Parts: sequence; C-alpha cells; structure tokens
Amino acid sequence: MEKRNIAISLPSTGEEEWQAAREPLMTGWLTQGPKVAAFEEAFAKRHQVPHALAVTSCTTGLHLALAGLDIGPGDEVIVPTFTWIATANVVLYCGATPVFVDIDPLTYNLDISQVAAKVTDKTRAVIAVHLFGRCLDIDALRAVLPAQVAIIEDAACAAGADWKGRPAGSLGDAAAFSFHPRKSVTTGEGGMVTTSNPELAERMNQLRSHGASLSEEQRHLGPRPYLLPEFNLLGFNYRMTDLQGAIGLVQLGKLDGFIDERARWAQYYCEQLADIDWLRLPTTPQGSRHGWQAFVTYIDPQKAPMPRNDMMEILQAKGISTRPGTHAVHMLAYYRERFGLKPEDFPGARDCNDHTMAIPLHNRMSEEDYAYVVEAIRQLR
Ligand SMILES: *Cc1c(COP(=O)(O)O)cnc(C)c1O
Repeated sequence: MEKRNIAISLPSTGEEEWQAAREPLMTGWLTQGPKVAAFEEAFAKRHQVPHALAVTSCTTGLHLALAGLDIGPGDEVIVPTFTWIATANVVLYCGATPVFVDIDPLTYNLDISQVAAKVTDKTRAVIAVHLFGRCLDIDALRAVLPAQVAIIEDAACAAGADWKGRPAGSLGDAAAFSFHPRKSVTTGEGGMVTTSNPELAERMNQLRSHGASLSEEQRHLGPRPYLLPEFNLLGFNYRMTDLQGAIGLVQLGKLDGFIDERARWAQYYCEQLADIDWLRLPTTPQGSRHGWQAFVTYIDPQKAPMPRNDMMEILQAKGISTRPGTHAVHMLAYYRERFGLKPEDFPGARDCNDHTMAIPLHNRMSEEDYAYVVEAIRQLR
C-alpha cells in the first residue's frame, strides 16, 4: 500500500467557523457576551441540564465546580488514577487532598467497587471521569457514596455521550467539558461547566468573573454609573471570549454528526480487528452512547508478538500516529514524589499506562485511511 500520513486527531473546523468568528470582530464585542450566552443556552439544551457556563477550559471548569462547592484545605476528593493530570491538579488548586482510586481496565473508568473503602468523613466529592467518551455508571457510584458527597463529572471527552439515554453533564451534581482540539468539538481552548443546582450555578457564575455580583443597592435601584459590582468571594477570570462562543455554537451544531460518524468507524475497527487475540477493543454498554473522543485499544503483553512501544514505532514509520490512552497520574513525577506513590499501588492504572494504544479516529479521515490503519495493525506480527 502507498504510504499515508494519518494524525491521531485533527479538529474539524473550516469556513463556517471562520465566518462565525467575523461577527464579534466586526461588532467589537470580543469577550463573554451574546455569542457565549447563545452557546451556553444551546449546550444546556443539548445536554438536558438547566445551567451551562462557558469557561476557558475543562480544567478551569472543574476548578470552578470544586470552588463553587466550597471545597478547600482539609477536604478530600476521590479521583481515578488513570486520567489526564488536570483531574487531580484541580483538587490541589483548592488546597484539598486528592485520594486516588484504581480503574477498571476493561472500561478505563473508575473501579466503583474500590470507592467505598476510600471514603472518610473528610470526603467532599468524587470526580467521575467519562474517559475517552464512555460514561461512568453514575447511579452505581451514587449507591456506594454517602448522600453528602458530591459527584463532579469530568466530561472533558464526553460531549454528546450518554448513559442509558441520560446525557453526560446531567448525571452528577456538576460537570465540566473540554473544547481543546483533541476533543470532538473545539473552540481552540475552552470548556463548559454544567449543573442542575441553581445556587451552585450562581456561585460558579460569580467565581468565573472575579467573584463579582450585583449589590443589593444595584438590584433595587437598577444600574447606576457610580456603582461597581459587589465582591464577596475570591474569584477568578475564567470567562470565554465571544469569538470562541461563536465558533462553539457552530461546532455544537455538528456534534451529533461527528459522533455518529466516529461511531460508524469505531464499529468498523471492531469488526476488522476482532480476530486479533492480543488486541482488546473498546466496548459500549448496551443502551448508552459512547462519545468516541478516542479509540483506545489494549495490547495484551502476554500474547502480543512484540511490546507496545515497538508497535507504535512501526506504525509511526508507516505514517500512522498512535498514543498511549492517557497516563497513570500516580506515576507522574509530581504526584509520585509529593505523595510517595509507587507504580504498583494502582495496578489497573499502571497496566493501562503501559499497554494501551489509541489509534486514529476523527472526522477528517477517509475510508482509505481507516483501511490503511487496519491493514498496518494486521501486519504487526
Ligand atoms: C482533556 C482532558 C482534560 C483537560 O481539558 P482542558 O480543556 O484541556 O483543560 C481533563 N480531563 C480529561 C479526562 C481530559 O481528557
């Protein structure tokens, strides 16, 4: 076969996004304004949740959710240890303590059976990651948690995904999404935080913009030129620009089409690669919709003809980009050293850290590209 170059992921943006970004530039309304408001409204509607607030990233969205719940020093937050580092970092931003729980290597998500043993009277929340777009069973998680422990969905990879018909973002007490170019819809950088709780939404809204709120005087008297907002909270500046809001609105309109296309090709990979005994393929639970942010395989080290890294090098030489699924946070230097963690502390996460391989799946691949990837993997022996 003739050599191709296939990226692990490519954003699908173009003329429509370019045109959408023109309007804010022409009117001069550049930061959070009407386009962000329209994007938030459409996003909330699509994910069946009453409140959606656009932010600068999923990371800042998760930080807002924790700060909105007033989580701080002395508090513990449970996080899975196979996830992007940001899931754990946000807990430290608040001065709280991340408590790691291993994952289930078959789903790449939190091993719910190990959660109860990690709950203490300091546990304030669990960050439930829907890794690679596969939703965690939030009902099963809720069942093992005391009622006062909040569930925050890390839905970075899960825009448009659902669990038994209920969309990601509507499953927990709050959720954060990412619009980084590696995710299925993008605004360059960007994120969205959702909740059904109106008080939490109002607190996160204030925290997003320096802690600003309208004072009682302003509420009663209406705008007065000499009055600035009230500041009762230590806030941040996590506002999204209106240029991004305009782009996000266009991208959101394409989300379901993007996922449907990815799901078809994920199915193709599963059919074409099913008979390779050393390759484990990702699964979708019956009745739920995978977001297919990534297609992550597991290379069985007992059966594989060569180590994963050798396979990745061979595929790279053929022009096919691959990546490890993600990393085990407890094996990263900062966490390893600060908390004295060892790789064997979380064997499921270590296993996935060492043996997963994401293969290309995105909306700018052709039929020939997919066939080329399949052929190259079948030749690994
Ligand atoms: C991408 C990702 C993040 C971070 O998203 P940003 O928008 O880049 O901050 C957090 N958690 C998970 C699971 C991710 O995949």
